[in-house]
Amino acid sequence: MNKGGLRKRLLLSHMSVALCSLLFIMLLVNLVMTLSFGKYVENQQEAEAGFLLEDLKSSYTAAGKWPTDILMSISHQAMQRNYSVNIFDAEGNEIWGTGHMGMGMEGVSTSRTATKSATSYAIIKDGERIGTLKMQGNGGAETLLNRNFLLMFNRLSWGSLVLVLAGAYLFSRFIANGLSLPLVQIKKIAGRMREGDLGERVILSRSQTEIEEVGLALNYLADTLQQQEKLRKNLTADVAHELRTPLAAIQSHIEAFQDGIWEATPDKLQVCHNQVMRLVQLVSDLEKLSAAENPMIQLRRESLCLNEVIQDSILAVTGRQDKQSISLVFHEQEKVYMVGDYDRLLQVFVNLLNNAYKYTLEGRIDLGISEDSSGIIVTITDTGAGINPDELPFIFERFYRGEKSRNRKTGGAGIGLAIVKAIVEAHGGTVTVHSEINDGSEFKVYFPK
Ligand code: ADP
Repeated sequence: MNKGGLRKRLLLSHMSVALCSLLFIMLLVNLVMTLSFGKYVENQQEAEAGFLLEDLKSSYTAAGKWPTDILMSISHQAMQRNYSVNIFDAEGNEIWGTGHMGMGMEGVSTSRTATKSATSYAIIKDGERIGTLKMQGNGGAETLLNRNFLLMFNRLSWGSLVLVLAGAYLFSRFIANGLSLPLVQIKKIAGRMREGDLGERVILSRSQTEIEEVGLALNYLADTLQQQEKLRKNLTADVAHELRTPLAAIQSHIEAFQDGIWEATPDKLQVCHNQVMRLVQLVSDLEKLSAAENPMIQLRRESLCLNEVIQDSILAVTGRQDKQSISLVFHEQEKVYMVGDYDRLLQVFVNLLNNAYKYTLEGRIDLGISEDSSGIIVTITDTGAGINPDELPFIFERFYRGEKSRNRKTGGAGIGLAIVKAIVEAHGGTVTVHSEINDGSEFKVYFPK
């Protein structure tokens, strides 16, 4: 795994996010400070002008002018607040200005606000314009303060940028290690699996991250492959075992015919035919099983009446049975509908009914169907031989045959119930069995809604 690649990408993304956010904040703060400070200065000047106008109004003499000491005091006040003022009479002649104080504002540092054009305010008393006040801000302490603040803020921001970049580097290293270590482990185990070693598993931590989920999925995959591998090996052994007996019988018969030991009488040929039929049945069962167990094979999903499927399976089975000693009753109170694959569901009930017939010498077979809000249950009950409790856990396994079945010549290859289980599970259902030896068996097929 290219650990450096992941680290580099994380580092780049973390650093660019940190850099962009910091630059954005700096830009925003500079902009806001400049704009809002300009507004503040304007408002301040308005307020100052208001005070001066009040003074000018109240000190206006009936002779139509202002006492010099008042003008001086006004100029003084303005200068103290870093403004220069000029006062004009009603005719527009300048009668006073801060310049008259003999001390210009040259000493005051200029700034953008200092070069701002002056604002004129009309001096109005009793509705009559008595003069004009011209006021100009010279920039001062506040402007300086503002500038200093921005300067300091920008310096600190650049400083913190260095710290943030260092932090982003360490953080991305930490994250990259956290991400790449489990990925390296997953890659290693996937490699082992490719080489056929399915025994190893990804060690999962408790955190539910996507990487953990990939690990979990890989573990599931390993489990499934291991199970498939086991089934494949078992299947080969089981098939070989199942083929051996009929093939040996056919071989010995044919050799005996060839050597002239036996005549090819109808009886002897019938034995050979039976063995061939057993092989044919085995191949057909294997095909059905592999089709039912193959997850790639799509079920045909159609809406169907399960009662009809069961009726058809009864017809299929009873048509082949000649056991008069067994009565079969289908207790159907209601029509039950579900979505499923008709042919495969038919196979389920044919297999279960075949078994019920096969393992019941005399008595009855009862079929029931019911439906509630959670699902559909079909029961197949017989009064037959029952199943040994030791055998019960294995009867749904491929090629498992109970003692009785093994001893019987007509017994199948032990695939019937494996097919039932595979088909029912492919429909999302379950199949269970309850059985008492010599008392009978009850198979329950459940399909959820
Ligand atoms: P088989 O071809 O042997 O019938 P199955 O897979 O259909 O294979 O069944 C597996 C085993 O389960 C049988 O060998 C038999 O011992 C037992 N079994 C299945 N159904 C019944 C039943 N209705 N009554 C008694 N035993 C049964």
